[in-house]
Amino acid sequence: MSGGPRLQAPRGTFDVLPGDSPARLSLFNLCQGRLGGAGLQYTETPIFEDTELFARGVGEATDIVQKEMFTLEDRAGRSLTLRPEGTAGVCRAYVEHGMHKLPQPVRLWYWGPFFRHEAPQAGRYRQFNQIGAEALGSDDPSVDAELILLLAELLAEAGVRELRLRLSSLGTAEARRDYADELRAHLLAREDELSPEVRARIEANPLRAFDSAHAGTRAVLADAPRLLDRLTPEDAEHFAEVRALLDEAGLDYEVDPSLVRGLDYYTRTVFEFTSDALGAQSGVGGGGRYDGLVEQLGGPPTAGVGWAAGVERILLAAGGEPRRQAPPAVFVAWEDSRRTAFDLTRRLRQDGLTVQMEQAGRSLKGQLKHADRLRARFAAVVDDDGLELRDLRTGEARPVKTAADIVDAVRSP
Ligand code: ATP
Ligand code: MG
Repeated sequence: MSGGPRLQAPRGTFDVLPGDSPARLSLFNLCQGRLGGAGLQYTETPIFEDTELFARGVGEATDIVQKEMFTLEDRAGRSLTLRPEGTAGVCRAYVEHGMHKLPQPVRLWYWGPFFRHEAPQAGRYRQFNQIGAEALGSDDPSVDAELILLLAELLAEAGVRELRLRLSSLGTAEARRDYADELRAHLLAREDELSPEVRARIEANPLRAFDSAHAGTRAVLADAPRLLDRLTPEDAEHFAEVRALLDEAGLDYEVDPSLVRGLDYYTRTVFEFTSDALGAQSGVGGGGRYDGLVEQLGGPPTAGVGWAAGVERILLAAGGEPRRQAPPAVFVAWEDSRRTAFDLTRRLRQDGLTVQMEQAGRSLKGQLKHADRLRARFAAVVDDDGLELRDLRTGEARPVKTAADIVDAVRSP
């Protein structure tokens, strides 16, 4: 019987299938180990927030706010948005919970789903997952360098291939505004050589021209003034110190003065990791400093720096064989003794063993075959007359009396 047409997951979403989960979980554990080990604390913020948070935080003129947000109304007519990125929410939480009173910097990491209304393609989804790290309350260049290094090590350890890091500095918001005026004048003077998209954004966001692949636009930009040459002495010094710390750590990077990121809140350091193994969607992770953001969201003046990396892109760029679930130590086989088998399974688990029991009504022979398929080390065969433990590697079988005997045998095979 069928209950109507078959349903499918919405466009641009995906299911994490059992075969995908070992690699994902091991990435999560790697994050917990590395980021937690560096003293970052795990945090979660809501998946939807007031739309205003992103409009104010990410910036009205950005692609994210103009084109990519999933926005809905609640029953009271309040505008909510499925979070397209994590930094704004973390900064809101920092302000809302008075985290500026904690010892600074407050260093956090997170993992969870994000939403952008984009054209789906390989490595680009409408619901995807990000790993993020943020440090609030310090403008020390060592925080920038530390977070960049942590991401580099994480990506390398996750097995991301052909990894490249580009780095730049955007200076302060004022330096950037002055520079935007200068760049705007440069673009306007040669407007007819630019792509229509770039031309349409000269007023609102001239820096986005650097993202264009259009040949005419690139020619105009080749002799445009560079923001890196317009930094204040303090910002230039800050950037030099970040670079010196990364040099000392032996991290390879390229200074790319054309690096602009799609979020308006960045100041000073910006960076992006790409993997040539990914093709068109090459961005694996990126971030930067956002010294004005907390204040913009109603908090005290607070420095901040952070990054976000795409879980699915990391897994894609790591390639590799699909990993299998760790095998159980014991498979509990039974034909007529469900309750005894159930009880034994529970006891063995209480003693810390990984155990699965038969639940599909197979014959005993079929069950042993299934235990092999699971790569179980032992099978405990239960029937009303007793208990037998089979070593599935040697084929040796021997009678045992209690769950404790099985635990002993498994622990010292
Ligand atoms: P892109 O240039 O690919 O659009 P972005 O600059 O919009 O990336 P960020 O906002 O910096 O990306 O997000 C950080 C990371 O999140 C990206 O480097 C990427 O790995 C991942 N990411 C961003 N958008 C998507 C998406 N739609 N689907 C899957 N992963 C994504
Ligand atoms: Mg994008």
